[in-house]
Amino acid sequence: MKHARCAAFVSGASALLALAAAGSEGPATAIVGAALIDGTGAPPVEDSVVLVRGDVVVAAGPRADVPVPEDATVIDAAGAFVMPGLIDLHNHYGGGREGFERLLALQLEFGVTTARSLGADGAENMAVIADAKAGRIPAPRLYTAGAGFSHPRGMPPGGVIQRPTTVDEARKMVRDLAAADVDLIKMWVDDTLDGRLEWTFDWNDGRAPIPKISPEIRTALVREAARHGLPAVAHIYNEEDVRQLAAVGVRHFVHTARAAPVDAEFVRWAKRQALSFAPALAKAQDSWFMAERPEVLDDPSLLRAWGQQRIDRMKAPGTQAGMLVHPQGAQLRTVYGRMQRFTRQMQDAGVTVALGSDSGAGNVPFGWGTHHELELLVEAGLTPLQAIAAGTSNAARVLEGDDPPFGAIARGKAADLVLLSRDPSADIGNSRSIERVMQAGRWLDAPD
Ligand SMILES: [Zn+2]
Repeated sequence: MKHARCAAFVSGASALLALAAAGSEGPATAIVGAALIDGTGAPPVEDSVVLVRGDVVVAAGPRADVPVPEDATVIDAAGAFVMPGLIDLHNHYGGGREGFERLLALQLEFGVTTARSLGADGAENMAVIADAKAGRIPAPRLYTAGAGFSHPRGMPPGGVIQRPTTVDEARKMVRDLAAADVDLIKMWVDDTLDGRLEWTFDWNDGRAPIPKISPEIRTALVREAARHGLPAVAHIYNEEDVRQLAAVGVRHFVHTARAAPVDAEFVRWAKRQALSFAPALAKAQDSWFMAERPEVLDDPSLLRAWGQQRIDRMKAPGTQAGMLVHPQGAQLRTVYGRMQRFTRQMQDAGVTVALGSDSGAGNVPFGWGTHHELELLVEAGLTPLQAIAAGTSNAARVLEGDDPPFGAIARGKAADLVLLSRDPSADIGNSRSIERVMQAGRWLDAPD
C-alpha cells in the first residue's frame, strides 16, 4: 500500500456534516481510491472512499460523494480493491484448544471475518468459541450449532454428534444446546457417505445401508429449536428431504440436492419457500481436485493454510495415484456435475446461494478453502461478483435475516473489510491477493 497523498481531501465543514450524519464514535479511517466491491453483487465503484468510524462503515461510495473528515486516518488505496470480509457458513473445527485457535487466526488471515461452525463442537470447542465471542482471542465472528444431530448409525460416524433414539430424547438434547448458548442446530440427513450413491457402511455386524435420521425426530428437533429461537440447518443430499424439512420450517441447507437432478418446479418451489443453499463444492471435489491440478500444491497460500507436512502427504505419488483412480470417481463426478447445475439453477432463479466450504472436512483447508469455494461457485456459473455476494451479503442474510449488521460495505454495516491488490471481479482467483484485513474497524496487522 502506498502512503497518503495530498489530493484534495475536502473541507472541515463537509467533514462535520459527515460526522453528524454518521452519529458514530471512535477513530475514523478513510480508505481512499480503491475500487469498491460492496458485496451486494453491484458493479465495482472505481475511485471510492470507504469511511469507517469506530467499528462500522459510516459512508461508502464514489470519492465525490464521501467527504473525508479531518481527523480520519487516510489510507491511500489507489489501484487496490476493497470488498467485505468473507463469511463461511460451513466449518468443522478441531485440534484441541491450540489447534482451534490457530484455525481461527488462519481464517482471519485469509479475510474470513465471520464463520459458522456446523455440528462438531463439544465442550472443549464450546469453551474456545465462548472466548472468541467475548473477544478474548482473535477469531472471526462465530456462530455455532454445538454438537449436531444424526441417526444412531447415521452419517458422519463418530465425533461429538448427538444421536437421539426418541422424540423426547431429541427435545431434551435441543434444550441442553439452547442452555449451552448455541446459535442454531444442525442435522445430517444423509444415507450416502459423502455423496457416493448406493453406498454401504461396514458396521460391527456387517455392511448395511446407512440410515437417515427419521422424519419424526427431525421434526421434533426443528420444533424444539424454534421454541428456543434457534434456526435449524440441515445437511441434505436429496430433494425429498429438503421438502420434508422445509415443510416443518427449515430454510437453510448445506450441500445441494444431488441424488438426482431437480426440475424447474422444484426451483420455483425453493424460491417461494425462501430457501438457501450453501453447496460446499470444495468438499464435493476434494477427492480428485488436488491430483488433477497438482500445481495448486505449490501455491504459497496453501502452504500457509496447511503446512509442509500435509502438502507433502498430498504430493506423495501414492496419494496422487489413489485420488485419480478413486473407486467411486466416476460416480462422484456425476454427482458433482449435478451440484454445479443445481447451484446455477438456484442462482438463475434468485434462490439464495451462499458460501459454505465445509472447511475442516476432507481436503478442504481453512481459509484457503473459502477462497477455493468462491472459485468453484464461478466454475459452476456464477459471475465473480455473484460469488462474492454469496460469500458476503447472501451468507450474512442466512445468518441474520433481511437486514444483517455485516456482510456488505455500506453505511451502518460492521467494518469487516479485505483490501486486495488485484481485481477479484475480473478473476475470482484474485480474492487471495490479500493486502490487509479489517475486522470491526481494526486492521488485524495493526499493533494493539
Ligand atoms: Zn460439513
